Amino acid sequence: MSRIGIKLDVVGLDATNNGRSCRNHECCGQVVRSGDIIVFRGCEVIVNNIKERGIAAHIMKDGYQSCRVGFLKRHMIRKEGQLEGVRARVVQVLSPDAKKTTNKSDRAKYHHNKGACVVECTSEWQVPTKPKNKKRAIDCGVLIGTDEERKTKQSK
Ligand SMILES: [Zn+2]
Repeated sequence: MSRIGIKLDVVGLDATNNGRSCRNHECCGQVVRSGDIIVFRGCEVIVNNIKERGIAAHIMKDGYQSCRVGFLKRHMIRKEGQLEGVRARVVQVLSPDAKKTTNKSDRAKYHHNKGACVVECTSEWQVPTKPKNKKRAIDCGVLIGTDEERKTKQSK
């Protein structure tokens, strides 16, 4: 199933910790506008003094990965392998201003997450190959190569 077009929340656009500040911007997330392209990268973050994995959103500038502007929500870390390098387009930047963000729950989302935007995936997610192969190998008791090798064997 294609995941192009799936919408995700990028949060923490108004925060400056965990790499969301650079020499050009005090707060990198504040440069995000509708129509911008972002790319997801797994990384290490520090939450309450403890290191954990996170999925950062970096803005693309002139075709290159630029500032880190925010993160996917914490529960998305299960999808880290699938989202590595996936691109998405910003479709809505949430604002605390009722004139700009008319929906009340969207404004609540802005406050709850220290800034947020909605993005729409524009490239396919990575295929989660490794866990699948491991499971199959256990299922049949022996390891007889990767999915790809098995397919080749069957078609011969
Ligand atoms: Zn920046």
